[in-house]
Amino acid sequence: MTDYALAVDLGGTKVEAALVDSTGTLFVGSRHRRPTGLTSTSDQLAAAVVDAVQDALAALPADATLLGAGIGSAGPIAGTTGDVSPLNLAAWRNYPLGTLVAEQLPGLAVTLRMDGICIALAEVWRGAAQGETNVMGMIVSTGIGGGLILGGRVIAGPTGNAGHIGHVAVAGHDDVCACGARGCLEAVASGPRTVLWARTQGFAGETGEQLAAAAAGGDVVARAAIERSATAVGRAIASASALVDLDIAAIGGGFSHVSSDYIALVGAAVAQHSDFGFVTKTRVVASGLSGDGPLVGAAALVHRADLIG
Ligand SMILES: [Zn+2]
Repeated sequence: MTDYALAVDLGGTKVEAALVDSTGTLFVGSRHRRPTGLTSTSDQLAAAVVDAVQDALAALPADATLLGAGIGSAGPIAGTTGDVSPLNLAAWRNYPLGTLVAEQLPGLAVTLRMDGICIALAEVWRGAAQGETNVMGMIVSTGIGGGLILGGRVIAGPTGNAGHIGHVAVAGHDDVCACGARGCLEAVASGPRTVLWARTQGFAGETGEQLAAAAAGGDVVARAAIERSATAVGRAIASASALVDLDIAAIGGGFSHVSSDYIALVGAAVAQHSDFGFVTKTRVVASGLSGDGPLVGAAALVHRADLIG
């Protein structure tokens, strides 16, 4: 008999749900997704979540046990109550997502945390940071997200939003960010913002894939854009390490594959950041997770409750 967690990952373009066992493996056939999106109404978003959850639950074998649900949500979130206000889902502000999912699982516990925290949990549980205790898990993609594990425990903070490294300011930049601030890492180094910067320098492409192809073909501007992004990510990690003494940063997300040496470029930026050994010791590695990472991390909220503060 197998014990499963219902894992839910809510993002700006889709919501996914799946059953995940106690080894962090997704149950084949249980993974379902529905679109979300900036312009969706609150009712449309709720229906998308309920449909994905119900489809996943329908795959539960008759002889299996469902332990509860873990939800990773795009931020910001509102503490650990299960309420969310995702920046890229305008219809939901202080929306009770945890309650909505709990209504689908009467009598079972539901735990919700920021998606970046779930990534950090997944890296420690099943990814590139297994055995580590002072970890930043990161996604570099359309946005930049992150989460912290320090002393072997998740650091969520009083509002649940600790680890939002995408909204840490990077020295030398003042790009306007969607959060209202300037110079945020996400505004400088995300995939779309990196392409946008390249276009200001004469690059004619419009996507990260085109940027990757151009750089691989020797385009100097595309290469400079990739190095600019990696350097900014490295500076943010080094600054985070100066604050909380990180051992390792594990980086995933589509844009981290924009060049074969992107992770090495980030690592070099950390290594060259300062003369402080406790900063430059921070190892930068590629994520050890597949595309299942966000769901594995959400399931860790149930199966690895020992890591949650
Ligand atoms: Zn910001």
